[in-house]
Amino acid sequence: MTKYIYKFDEGQKSMKDLLGGKGANLAEMKSLGLPVPDGFTITTEACIEYLKNDAELPDTLLEQLNIELDALSQRIQKSFSADESLLLVSVRSGAKISMPGMMDTILNLGLNDENVKKLATKTNDSRFAYDCYRRLLQMFGQVVYGIPMAAFDTYFNQYKTQHGYQSDADIPAEGLQDICNHFKEVYVEETYKPFPQEPINQLTEAIEAVFKSWDNDRARVYRQLNEIPHDIGTAVNIQEMVFGNSGERSGTGVAFTRNPVTGQANLFGEYLLNAQGEDVVAGIRTPKDIETLRAQMPHVHQQFVDVSKRLETHYKDMQDIEFTIENEQLYILQTRSGKRTANAAIHIAVDLVEEEIITKEEAVLNVEVKSIDQLLHPNFDEQSLKNATTISKIGLPASPGAASGKIVFSAEIAKEQAENGNKVILMRPETSPEDIEGMIASEAIVTTHGGMTSHAAVVARGMGKCCVTGCSDVEINVVDKVIHYPGGTLQEGDVISVDGAKGDIYYGEVATMKAERSEAFEQFMSWSEDVARLQVRMNAETPQDIQTGYQFNAKGIGLVRTEHMFFGPERLIEMRRFILSDTQDKRIAALNKIQQYQMTDFEAILKLSGERPTIIRLLDPPLHEFLPSSVEEKNNVAEQLNVSVRELEQYIENLNEVNPMLGHRGCRLAITYPELYVMQAEAIVSSALRLKAQGIECQPEIMIPLVSTVAEFTILKDQIVEKIEQLQQEAGDRIQYLIGTMIETPRACLIADELAEVCDFFSFGTNDLTQLTFGFSRDDAGKFIGSYLEQGILERDPFQTLDQNGVGQLVKKAAQQAKAVNPNIKIGVCGELGGDDKSIHYFNQIDIDYVSCSPFRVPGALLSTAQSEVKGGRSRV
Ligand code: PEP
Ligand code: MG
Repeated sequence: MTKYIYKFDEGQKSMKDLLGGKGANLAEMKSLGLPVPDGFTITTEACIEYLKNDAELPDTLLEQLNIELDALSQRIQKSFSADESLLLVSVRSGAKISMPGMMDTILNLGLNDENVKKLATKTNDSRFAYDCYRRLLQMFGQVVYGIPMAAFDTYFNQYKTQHGYQSDADIPAEGLQDICNHFKEVYVEETYKPFPQEPINQLTEAIEAVFKSWDNDRARVYRQLNEIPHDIGTAVNIQEMVFGNSGERSGTGVAFTRNPVTGQANLFGEYLLNAQGEDVVAGIRTPKDIETLRAQMPHVHQQFVDVSKRLETHYKDMQDIEFTIENEQLYILQTRSGKRTANAAIHIAVDLVEEEIITKEEAVLNVEVKSIDQLLHPNFDEQSLKNATTISKIGLPASPGAASGKIVFSAEIAKEQAENGNKVILMRPETSPEDIEGMIASEAIVTTHGGMTSHAAVVARGMGKCCVTGCSDVEINVVDKVIHYPGGTLQEGDVISVDGAKGDIYYGEVATMKAERSEAFEQFMSWSEDVARLQVRMNAETPQDIQTGYQFNAKGIGLVRTEHMFFGPERLIEMRRFILSDTQDKRIAALNKIQQYQMTDFEAILKLSGERPTIIRLLDPPLHEFLPSSVEEKNNVAEQLNVSVRELEQYIENLNEVNPMLGHRGCRLAITYPELYVMQAEAIVSSALRLKAQGIECQPEIMIPLVSTVAEFTILKDQIVEKIEQLQQEAGDRIQYLIGTMIETPRACLIADELAEVCDFFSFGTNDLTQLTFGFSRDDAGKFIGSYLEQGILERDPFQTLDQNGVGQLVKKAAQQAKAVNPNIKIGVCGELGGDDKSIHYFNQIDIDYVSCSPFRVPGALLSTAQSEVKGGRSRV
């Protein structure tokens, strides 16, 4: 019989696959002797079976559930039917990978019309008992029967207003009793059946609801966004209730062992007295700083400080801990690695190494690659800020970044506007999981309620999205779509700017500035470099981009796309003159002019690179990309080139290709116009010789694109070498240079051993290689890739993440064969996949020496290579 249920005593932290993160950690904390309320976990296997079997619970699950409930009752001497020692439980989902706000929780399960009276008598507190019951009715109704939250909330809020109660805590027992009675009527109105009174029925329905919620839309969206597989299911944790809402000596809270925004090494958290479950994160009441607990309940505070230190050292990472205090007794309900900003992640990793809690290899694994992007996020320009009009400065800096956009009031409109190309800022009183798609679509999120652990704050930090919460001097009227703030009003569509690092909101658009990096960042990146095997180069051609890449410690340039240098107006006209020339002499004359521009460019690039290797790729795209298309442009060009518009159109017509990506491009251009590559090679080498004469050594690597045969390469290489030899003789000096090829066609992969004999280096152009291996046009694949992903034909877009089974195998075998015949050959990857985390893990395990990507992706790529090495390095594919 499959074991579907594990007591907390039977699990441990390594069992996340089966028990989910929450279940495994509850078990681990139990084994550490921490104060965890007793309970058990229903496995992810049970969820998978349930979903596979068309929403049928596995055969023996109910049998096992009864046995485990009896065992729990025995252990804690409580039961669902006892008068004095009444058992109430919480039911919480918990997948292997934490999905905050995505799945659902039910508290106080076991209460019914009878048990609520027993609870009132036992605690001598009817208010508390009915408060628990109304919460159960609300949560159960929403989670299990899908009753809209508003069906309960509207009545609850009206009731408070009618009776003049300021806060929930002011409602007396009789009021809560009335509310419970009304909530039970809501069940009948909404679902045509009463609230289930039998605790075991409540429990099985709740378990099924958690299983079902694995497949709800917002859970799917979250998984998609975070690349969590859809088939791993969720576990369900059933745990004895402890009550943070049983008076002023009780409470509930959430705390991080370190500051999740800055990384500072001090406890950071919030709590509310006389509150339960979601109260702290829901933003209904403003929570208190954990520090004030020291004064209110010193021994509980001290105990919590000790527990958090212990958990952090045990898990070797910053923890996010949920706790409840029941009559001054501390209980820990959950621990997990805390979500944090990239800045905090770096500081925490560096501090933990310095505190000797982790090694630098472990530190490298503690920072998510995608969070590195956040560090490179812009800030507002200080000067522009001085002139900006403030809307609010009292919000909380929930997630850093600086963004401007038009105000929208709902997730739906946010999505719609973003799809139409508008930048929007989502403004809400608070957010809930339903808002997830709108949050993704927005540049920033602003809420008027909620603290640093509110839904908006946690989710935005996870996404690396700018967010300000608790902006309480701003009043949002979602219905009338208007905002009142101390200085005036704002309407939907007005532009505002949000500073997520400070918590400030400004009117209009404020200019942004590039991100600055800290010492800790440099330290962390240098550890990543120590650990990494693969080198990281950059794809860049402008001095500004090259400088950026070198600031990020790129080890050289992996790809200069020379065609990007031809788009300035004075250059373009010479390029057009070259293309439209009908004799070689005319072509050479045009090329001589282009060469002047090229030399200036190459000299600047090579100077910035110095001795770092610099791959310059010779011209690649089909020539008609350089030709005019509009009537106006054609008229201009015809005039400049001194030809008639008719003649020009005839040339254009002649150059037209049915499949330009498969046509006259790459090395094929130089096979037909040899002077083209010779001119470029001459520009590169003469620039290098000139620099050498000034005392600057450099290492150009000349790359020939789109090669499919050895002869293509050798013919062009011989022409280039002849020119280089001539230049070196004339200069009376020699430079260090290499000549290699891009590997972009399946045929080139298959003859990699032959090519390796004549090439100094290979660089896999995975954009074209993916295009040609699948036969998917890289420019049109967007039209159908979505359907392929939806139908599960492909797991990922192969232009974004390497297709390991197909393209990956070609790369692997080609690299292996090349190294076998030419062990000195340098092999890199310079397509988009060179900056993608998963693809880099693959490249790290095969015969690749470096990856190359755009400058801002360099730090992330470096971290990916380091992580891949720590996780096991080579020879696992
Ligand atoms: C490639 O094909 O992967 C590549 C880097 O070249 P381009 O994208 O310029 O075709
Ligand atoms: Mg290419």
